[in-house]
Amino acid sequence: MVAEWQGQLKEFVNTIDRLEQYVNLTDEERKVLTTNTTTWGTTPYFASLMDRDDPNCPIRKQVIPSRHEQENVFGMDNYLVWKENRATDEVRPDSIARQYKDRVAFTVTQTCGIYCRHCFRKELVVDGDLTLDFNVDEGLDWIAAHPEVRDVLITGGDPLLLPDDQIAYLLDRLRAIPHLEMIRIGSRLPIVLPSRITENLQKILGQYHKVPIWINTQCNHPKELTEDTARAVFDLMRCGVNVGNQAVLLKGINDDVETFRALHQKLLTVRIRPYYVFYCEAAPGIDHFRTSVEKGAELIRDALRGHTTGLAQPMYVVATNIGKIPLMPNYTIEGKTDQEYTLKNHLGDTTTIPNIPE
Ligand code: SF4
Repeated sequence: MVAEWQGQLKEFVNTIDRLEQYVNLTDEERKVLTTNTTTWGTTPYFASLMDRDDPNCPIRKQVIPSRHEQENVFGMDNYLVWKENRATDEVRPDSIARQYKDRVAFTVTQTCGIYCRHCFRKELVVDGDLTLDFNVDEGLDWIAAHPEVRDVLITGGDPLLLPDDQIAYLLDRLRAIPHLEMIRIGSRLPIVLPSRITENLQKILGQYHKVPIWINTQCNHPKELTEDTARAVFDLMRCGVNVGNQAVLLKGINDDVETFRALHQKLLTVRIRPYYVFYCEAAPGIDHFRTSVEKGAELIRDALRGHTTGLAQPMYVVATNIGKIPLMPNYTIEGKTDQEYTLKNHLGDTTTIPNIPE
């Protein structure tokens, strides 16, 4: 029997005919799709969340290719090689990317449940300009031979699109590595294909308690959060998996105060903990999604800090080849003397606390 999530993949919305079941295409969208040579599309479930008539629908803009993708000015060529430190002297399999001593990213597939138009890994998953050899056993052997690695991020593509037996194999092998303390999985499926969180997958994920699994998903707009996602996240948590969100700051999608606040508040209502907001990276062909670097910190200041619960506060970061650089709003310490600190809150009010000598 074909499971619901597998049926969704069979009906993947990646042709104009299928897309037209969900939206009335504009002339421009149709023209771009007719000449498009990149991988695009999403699940029928996620496509059904698009606005039928509004080309500015925040979900539609993440799914349907834009003519602006051809207008690259600021995007860096070979971005992923730069970003993931692939041109270094350290001998590593293609599947292993490393920016830190104690943790690595382990790429196991280049298939996705949505081919996000803003993806920073687009050279690999959307454009097909970068080819990597994903030999899973080679990656596992490398991790096992590096005792300094205590934390592995399984990434892609979307790792949860692998068949259950392959996910089980991967997790069994990783959990048997004595120096591994935690496993993270980067997956947009709780958002774009929540039916993937089947009972069998829950059994696989929930089998051991000693090496915790964290799933970080990507939700960029409150419209993406549905009852189906809420149920999937609940099921993941019931089997011991914590779920966090890594949003991308996207111009015209979530870069205004109201949307940014609504997104982070709604994430908590479905038990997803806001973890990061990423500045939209300098990958090629996504200039049109990029804001100023300062914008994310301004949004944290104007939409979240003091305006809503501390649980809804992600860290705003710029991801680079030397790691993530946090850029949080710098408005809290207004002044400092030998006697006291002057602190400012989100409303601009100030107060003082004693400066206690160390
Ligand atoms: S799901 Fe992730 S890897 Fe796939 S296109 Fe979207 S952002 Fe990129």
